[in-house]
Amino acid sequence: MVLHICGYENCVYSTSKSGNLARHILTHTGVKSYVCGICNESFARTDTLASHMQTHTGVKSHVCTTCNKAFSKASGLARHILIHKEQQPHM
Ligand SMILES: [Zn+2]
Ligand SMILES: [Zn+2]
Ligand SMILES: [Zn+2]
Repeated sequence: MVLHICGYENCVYSTSKSGNLARHILTHTGVKSYVCGICNESFARTDTLASHMQTHTGVKSHVCTTCNKAFSKASGLARHILIHKEQQPHM
């Protein structure tokens, strides 16, 4: 079995398939073929770009169960929920 080893510094990647190595090398060479048309940020994978696009398209999948305010990021909702917690009287 021939082992193909990534020659990049600080990388321990190795594989028995040369095709896998070629794909892995792309993560080093910075070839990112998926570019966001709005902010020009580029991504190596289409699914990464898709999830990034949600921050632009206003797809807000995180909804506050208390006031129905929607947020595009889970972190935004988490921060928002604190508002309600502070408003609640101590029991
Ligand atoms: Zn590598
Ligand atoms: Zn963008
Ligand atoms: Zn709320």
